[in-house]
Amino acid sequence: MARRQLAPPSDLHLTVAKRLRGDGQRYTSNRRALVEVLELTERPLTIAEILERDPRLAQSSAYRNLSVLDSCGVVRRIVTDDEYARYELAEDLTGHHHHLICSQCGRVEDFTISPQLEASLERAFKRVTARTGFTAEHHRLDLVGSCSRCG
Ligand SMILES: [Zn+2]
Ligand SMILES: [Zn+2]
Ligand SMILES: [Zn+2]
Repeated sequence: MARRQLAPPSDLHLTVAKRLRGDGQRYTSNRRALVEVLELTERPLTIAEILERDPRLAQSSAYRNLSVLDSCGVVRRIVTDDEYARYELAEDLTGHHHHLICSQCGRVEDFTISPQLEASLERAFKRVTARTGFTAEHHRLDLVGSCSRCG
């Protein structure tokens, strides 16, 4: 299991602007500031953590802008056992990965597994879809438990 080493594309902001425009939304400076915070982080962040990293952001607009970015497919919202949703850039912008979710403190970490392991997971999932007639687009696989600080 490796820590995430994913890199957003160099034309990230162009891609985001295009995606927003496709939904009739503008890439405002506040939305760009949110994307810039998420671009630099190696794990999903709560709104409080996002605001800490860029004091120019206001809580009310951050909340609204994150839900616009979420519905345009720029940001992914991760729900855990605690009351705080966490946000990260969408997987197709950064790369496929999985999460460690701590059910004590709510912390979420990204991790990746080797391409060989991903391929054997895909083979296992193909047997499931063949059996059930389900059409799969992608998979999500998270480990839930206690982080090293809580465990
Ligand atoms: Zn924890
Ligand atoms: Zn993630
Ligand atoms: Zn996977």
